[in-house]
Amino acid sequence: MNIIPKNLLDPFGTSVVTDYSRLFTELGLQPIGNLVSRIKHPNRYLRRGIDFAHRDFDKVLEAFKRGEKIAVMSGIKPTNEFHLGSKMTAEKIIFFQKEFKAKVFYCIADLESLVDNQIALDEATKIAIDNVADILALGLDPKNAYIYRQSEEKRVMNLAFLFSRKITLNHLQSLYGERQLGLYFAAFTQAGDILLPQLPEFGGPKIVLVPIGCDQDPHMRLTRDIVSKVKDQFNFIPPTSIYHKFFRALNGEAKMSKRDPMSFLILNDNIELAKKKVMNCVDGGKKTAEEQRRLGGEPEKCVNYELALFHFVEDDEHLKRIYEECKTGKRLCGECKKEVAEIMAKFLRKHQKKKKNMIKKATKILTKQSV
Ligand code: SF4
Repeated sequence: MNIIPKNLLDPFGTSVVTDYSRLFTELGLQPIGNLVSRIKHPNRYLRRGIDFAHRDFDKVLEAFKRGEKIAVMSGIKPTNEFHLGSKMTAEKIIFFQKEFKAKVFYCIADLESLVDNQIALDEATKIAIDNVADILALGLDPKNAYIYRQSEEKRVMNLAFLFSRKITLNHLQSLYGERQLGLYFAAFTQAGDILLPQLPEFGGPKIVLVPIGCDQDPHMRLTRDIVSKVKDQFNFIPPTSIYHKFFRALNGEAKMSKRDPMSFLILNDNIELAKKKVMNCVDGGKKTAEEQRRLGGEPEKCVNYELALFHFVEDDEHLKRIYEECKTGKRLCGECKKEVAEIMAKFLRKHQKKKKNMIKKATKILTKQSV
């Protein structure tokens, strides 16, 4: 039985955030604001305010300036093929790996998919190989990364057990609501993942950055609480985090639904099918071409515009042109969607070709354990 009060974010899957500003007041997240100007080559998520909030991200920038080693921690629950949400997190990890020369810790959360989604470990490994091939094709440098399966990383398990002794049921309920015990233990395991990079065998205490969607914040709060409670045993530095806004489903819903495959794009999609999905997505156009020419469209309501903003139009000037031409009625939705669909198709073709060559490497990474 899961009872999650409305004001809580649910990192296990059902949260929808419509008012991001409440997260600053209710959770104490900080706005990214002008920290972006301190990054040499900000990526499009930072430039466009998609990464909008943080905890201690300024400390990451300071540590980088001092020449300290930084780690980036992230992972994936192996339940699905890579969709645009997984692509966004992966691109952020890769960006921080390059920009801060950070070592990436990438966890395959197969225990969580077992507890939360009843996916057997063998099946999870097959999905994970496909996921890892995606992230490698997107540009992750495996030489500066530690990619591991949660079920195989005993240090994470040991940390999770230790942490579970320090936290009460009340504390867990205040962060996660009333959940099955397995999910609470999955949360301790996540805390173990987040703090793994600070163990002596990985070079000891360091700044660790966790790029996440804001629904994952309860894990950050739990982990930061744990750090203060295990001070006598570990010299952990509280982990830092950076939060992105959510990309809507193609049908305009806040979350994609597995039941409606036309509502989301996956990186394995057949190109023609993917184009069809874009052409069918919810837009902000008017009922007739005449009306649109006269009154302009509403890019703020348009998923096609979101596709350009979040994912496919890299050039800021190009994006601005789409926005202005839409607002002034210079462009109509059909031609606009066709343009975005073509850019997306080009990306997918290139990505799928690269990914084919990464399957072998991904299999090797996930079937050996090291360090
Ligand atoms: Fe969206 Fe383009 Fe139509 Fe504007 S013209 S509403 S950006 S599809």
